[in-house]
Amino acid sequence: MTKSYCESCKNEFYINLEKYDENLHIILCKKCRNIKPVYIKSHCKNNFLLRDNDLKNVKYIYGLANKCYLRDDINNIVLNKYGSINNFLKYVDIYNKKNEQRKLKKEEIKNERRKYIQNLFVENKLEYNEIGDIFMFIETGKPSPIDIINNEIIKLDEEMTRRVQLSMHLNELGLYYDELFKPCENYIKHKKGSMCNITENIKFNTFLKNNTEYTKLLDDHSENSAEELAIMKFVDKNKKKRSKQKIKNIKSCAFLDFNS
Ligand SMILES: [Zn+2]
Repeated sequence: MTKSYCESCKNEFYINLEKYDENLHIILCKKCRNIKPVYIKSHCKNNFLLRDNDLKNVKYIYGLANKCYLRDDINNIVLNKYGSINNFLKYVDIYNKKNEQRKLKKEEIKNERRKYIQNLFVENKLEYNEIGDIFMFIETGKPSPIDIINNEIIKLDEEMTRRVQLSMHLNELGLYYDELFKPCENYIKHKKGSMCNITENIKFNTFLKNNTEYTKLLDDHSENSAEELAIMKFVDKNKKKRSKQKIKNIKSCAFLDFNS
């Protein structure tokens, strides 16, 4: 801590001056910091249309998280820059109009791109979703529509290959193939998981449906809790059955047999 004094009320106080630079900072005591009218930097930029260059030589209050300039200093800069308040207001008006026009133009360009890419998708009989590359093209004009269409066709071909492979694989195992089953959909559409995982998932799901109360429990529970409850009930039921029959040395319950 260093003994210093407030540049406004001249009162002496102690302050940490580690990052102080006399060319950049104004030192104010706590009391003056609370009463001095100031503008934060973003306000100066947004409301007075000042740029970094306009503010580079203006001192700001030392020790605050945001750069805060004294209101009088900023008012002087605005007056110097625009000549008068009237000029400044005229400038703001022109700036706002130009800004509005820029926004409209941007929106117009985006609508043209949207129409163009939509038509291209219809012509190529592809499903149109305004996400990923399509969204980027509308916003920025890149990637090129030809690349987007080609990638979409490649993606659909790959999906078809995975679809055929998966359905054949499940067919060989005598398992029912349902594309709406989440793991199948994830594998085909998003390359997530593996055929091995899906097989295990379908086996487990078939077990839940055929050997437990899972389907009934879904009426009152979420998928996860229905699954948990169904397994608990199944294990419990099998334990009781075994103890009734006084069967000893059973290596595993039906649930484990099923998964082996
Ligand atoms: Zn003070």
